[in-house]
Amino acid sequence: MKIGILKEPKGEARVALLPEAVKTLLSWGTEVIVESGAGQGSFVSDGTYETTGATIAPREAILTTADMICCIQSLSTSEISQMKSSAVLLAQMGALYNLDLTKFLLEEKRTAFSMELVPRTTRAQSMDVLSSMATVSGYKAALLAASSLPRFFPMFMTAAGSITPARVLVIGAGVAGLQAIATAKRLGATVYAFDVRRAAKEEVLSIGAKFIDVEGAKEDKGAGGYAVEQSEEYIQKQKDTIHEHAQKADAIITTAQIPGRKAPLLVEERTVLAMKPGSVIIDLAASSGGNCALSQPDQTIEINGVRIFGVDNLATQLPQDASKMYGKNYLNFLKLIIKDGAIHLNFEDDIVLGTCVCHAGEAKSPRVAQILNQS
Ligand code: NAD
Repeated sequence: MKIGILKEPKGEARVALLPEAVKTLLSWGTEVIVESGAGQGSFVSDGTYETTGATIAPREAILTTADMICCIQSLSTSEISQMKSSAVLLAQMGALYNLDLTKFLLEEKRTAFSMELVPRTTRAQSMDVLSSMATVSGYKAALLAASSLPRFFPMFMTAAGSITPARVLVIGAGVAGLQAIATAKRLGATVYAFDVRRAAKEEVLSIGAKFIDVEGAKEDKGAGGYAVEQSEEYIQKQKDTIHEHAQKADAIITTAQIPGRKAPLLVEERTVLAMKPGSVIIDLAASSGGNCALSQPDQTIEINGVRIFGVDNLATQLPQDASKMYGKNYLNFLKLIIKDGAIHLNFEDDIVLGTCVCHAGEAKSPRVAQILNQS
C-alpha cells in the first residue's frame, strides 16, 4: 500500500508526517511517497525523507497513485477527483462547516476522514489534533502578546526604577487558554482568567492565575466537559465583567468557543474603546466569528492605540513541533485503519466511525450525518 504525503498550500508551514513518522509507517509494511518540498516549511529536506526510505515524487504522481493521502489542509475538489477511486483521504476538512466539500465527497463515493472529527474521548486523546494544535496556539498567543506590547511582561526592580508586571486577561480556559495562561505566567505576567465551565476554575488556580467568577452559568453535564450556549442575560453579565477587567489589562487573549456554534461575542466595541492605548487583544476565535466585536480573521487592526490580532492557525508559526505533534496524532489514528500493511476500516470502532466523513456514498460520522440531515 502506498501512502502519499503532500506539500501543504502556501501559508501553511506544517507537514502532516515528518520523517520520524515515516519510519514508523515503513515498519508497518507500507510504501511512502512524499511530494518534493513537503518538509521545507518545517526545515526538513527531501533528502532526509529519502534517508528514511521514502520516495520523493511530483504531486500529480502522488495524487494519482497513492492508496492513502495524508495532509493537514484539505485538497480542492479537482485534486480529489484525480485520486484513485479506492484511495482514502485524511485531512482537516472542517466537514461540519464545509458542507459543499462534504457533499462532493459523498457524491463522488470517496472515503474520507476529517481529523478534527476525532471524538474527544479518553481513548482518542492521543489522536486529538485539535488539542495538540490548541496547545501550540495558546503558547504562541502568549508570546505574540508579550512581543507586541510596548512594555515588559515581568516585574523588574532596577536602578532605573521598578516596573510592574503586565496584566493579562485570558477568556476561555480550555486547552489553548490554559497553555496561554501557563506561558504568560512563565514570562512573569499577572494573569486573570475566566471560563463558563466550573471545572475550569480549579485548573486556572492550579497554574497560578486568578479566576474571575461570573455567577449564573448554565452547565450541561451531558456536554462532555465542553461549554454550552449561555443565556443572553448571562452573556451580558460576562460582557460587563470583561469590560471592567479589560480597562486594567495590558493584554487580552480570547479562546472561548462552543463546539459547532459561532464563538460567543464577549469583548464589545465599547470595551476596546475603554482599554489602555498600547494594549493588545489576541483573538484565537477570530475564524469562528470572533470573541471580540472588532476582530477580523487573519488581520491586525488598530483602534485608539489598541491592536487587535484576529489570528487563525497560529500553529503554523511553530511548524517543527506542531508537525511533530500532528504526526504523532496521525500515527495513533492510522494504527486503527492500517493492519498488516493494508487499509482495514472497522466501523464498529467508535473512533474510526466518528472520524469518517463518508465511505461508499454514505455519511459515516453521526455528527456529519446529523448536519447533512439538517441542511
Ligand atoms: P473549546 O476550544 O471548545 O473552547 C475553549 C474554552 O472556551 C472552553 O474551556 C470553554 O468552556 C470556553 N468558553 C465557551 N464559551 C465561553 C464563554 N461564554 N465565556 C468564557 N469561556 C467560554 O474547548 P477545548 O479547549 O477544546 O476543551 C474544553 C474541555 O474539553 C476541557 O475541559 C478539556 O480538558 C476537554 N477536552 C477533553 C479531551 C479528551 O478527553 N480527549 C480533548 C480535548 C479537550
